[in-house]
Amino acid sequence: MSFERVMKFGGAALADGPAVERAGRIVRDLGGERPVVVVSAHQGVTSLLDSVAHAAAMGQVEGDRIRIRHRSLLRQLGLDSELLNRYFAELASLLAEIGRRRQLLPGERDLVLSYGERMSARIVAHALKKAGLPATPVDAFDLGLTTDSNHGAARPLRESQEAVREALLQVPGVPVVTGFLAQDRHGNLTTLGRNGSDLTASLVAEAVGAAELELWKAVGGMMTADPTLVPDARVIERLSFEEAAEFAFHGAQVLHPEALAPALRAGVAVRFLDVNHPSAPGTVLDEHRAGGGPVGIAARLLLLRIGLPANGCGSRAERLVELAASLVRHGVEPAAWTVNGDRVEVLVVPGQAVDALLTEIGRRASVEKDLALVALVGRASSDDTELASRALDALARAGAPAREAIVGASRASQLFVVGASDLERAVRGLHAALLSPEGARFS
Ligand code: ASP
Ligand code: MG
Repeated sequence: MSFERVMKFGGAALADGPAVERAGRIVRDLGGERPVVVVSAHQGVTSLLDSVAHAAAMGQVEGDRIRIRHRSLLRQLGLDSELLNRYFAELASLLAEIGRRRQLLPGERDLVLSYGERMSARIVAHALKKAGLPATPVDAFDLGLTTDSNHGAARPLRESQEAVREALLQVPGVPVVTGFLAQDRHGNLTTLGRNGSDLTASLVAEAVGAAELELWKAVGGMMTADPTLVPDARVIERLSFEEAAEFAFHGAQVLHPEALAPALRAGVAVRFLDVNHPSAPGTVLDEHRAGGGPVGIAARLLLLRIGLPANGCGSRAERLVELAASLVRHGVEPAAWTVNGDRVEVLVVPGQAVDALLTEIGRRASVEKDLALVALVGRASSDDTELASRALDALARAGAPAREAIVGASRASQLFVVGASDLERAVRGLHAALLSPEGARFS
C-alpha cells in the first residue's frame, strides 16, 4: 500500500484548538485513502523555545510558558491533560542542565527546539483519533530521515529516502510526522533551519512517491501581487516550479527553492491550499506550465545599485569577475545583475555586508540609493518585446517610470527598477495592465 498524498500544516494553521480541529477535518474529509500528515510546531512555539534555550544558557531556567501554551491546547481540544507530561519533564531537565553549565551547544539548541514539533505531532495525532481517524505520531528522526551534522541548518542526505519510505509503511493509521527534525549519521538530533517543515514535507513526498504534496496555510495560495498593495490581487491557479523559485528569489513569501527541489525531482505536484477555504483549488505548481505570460508580481523595496564603470584598466569581463568575487567574499546575494555597455551593475539589499563590500571596492564604485525592483514573474511567450513594452507603458502611465528594464524571453521574470517611492504605483499599474481579469490578460 502506498501513500498518494502528503499534507503539511504550518504553525499558523495549527495556532490553537479550533485550528487543530479544522486541520483534522481537512485530513479526514480531503485526505483520501491514507495521507501522510507533516506538522510544524504550533505558532510561535519554536521562537519561544529558542528564547527559553538562550535564557537557560544565561542562567534563567524557565519552561512555564511552553507548558501553559500546550496545556491550553490540550484543554481546548478536550484531550488528556497528562498527554505531554513526559515532554514537559524532559524539556525541564534539559533546560536545567543547560542552566547549570551556562552554555548552549548547537546540538542542545536543536534538542530544545525539537519539543515544538514533537508535541504538536502528538496533539494533532490525538485530535485526529478523537475525530475518528486512526493516526500515529511519528518523529522524523525515528523514520531515519538523515542529514549532515550542521546543527540548526542541517542538509538532508538523499540516501535515507528508502528507509523513510519503508518505515512509513510500517506505521499504523495516518502517520503524523514532525516537520523540521531529523538526525545525523551518528543519531544526533538535527533541525533543518527555520521554516524547515516544508522541506520535510517535500522529502517525505519524494520518499513515498506521492502524487501530490499539499501545503495547507493560514493564508491562501500564492497571490498575483501583495494584497496589501493591490486590493484585487487574486490567487494564482497554476505556475511552474521555475516561476515559483523566481517568486521566492524576489522576496515573495512562498516556498523556499530548497524545499521545492525534492518534489520537483520526484515529479510530485505541489499545491498551496487555504485552511480557511478548504475546497478552493489553491495554487498548483506544475512542471508543464510554460510560456503562458505573466503570473504575478514580486517586489523588493530599498535596494542599492552598485556600478563598476569602465576605468581604462581591465575589460568588462574582468570587472564582472571582480564584482562577483567581492559579492561572494562578503556574502552579499545580489537581487539582480545588469551589464550596460561597459558598466557592470548589481542591485543589492543594503546592510553591513554591503557596507564592507563598498569599503573594499572603494571610490571606483558608483552607488545609487532608494531603488526598488519589481519582478513580473512568468516566462514570456515568444513575443517578449511586446510584453516588455506593455509593461514599460503601464509603469509610465502609473507615474512610476522604469529606470531600467531587465527583460527577455529566456527569463522566468521581467525585471524593472523603479524609484523606491514609486513602488506601490508600479505594482498597481503593472497588475492592472497585465494581471487583472479586466485588463486584457497578456497571452
Ligand atoms: N517550527 C519551525 C519554525 O518555526 C519549522 C517550521 O515551522 O517550518 O521555524
Ligand atoms: Mg512555518
